[in-house]
Amino acid sequence: MYNLGNFIKMKKPHVCVVKETKKKANCWEIIRMGADIKIECTNCHRIVMMTRHNFEKRLKKILSN
Ligand SMILES: [Zn+2]
Repeated sequence: MYNLGNFIKMKKPHVCVVKETKKKANCWEIIRMGADIKIECTNCHRIVMMTRHNFEKRLKKILSN
């Protein structure tokens, strides 16, 4: 189960690129949990909001808790 503050990987990486590796960023932090879930890209700090249903469909892996 995921929780607030967890770092996660999504099935699709973010559009931004990590400078050091030149790969698309795919590490997000869960910053809000309710009916909707907000996640923040740890590379570019863009925030994405989605329904819990969509979030669970797109979630690939929990990196930490
Ligand atoms: Zn990003």
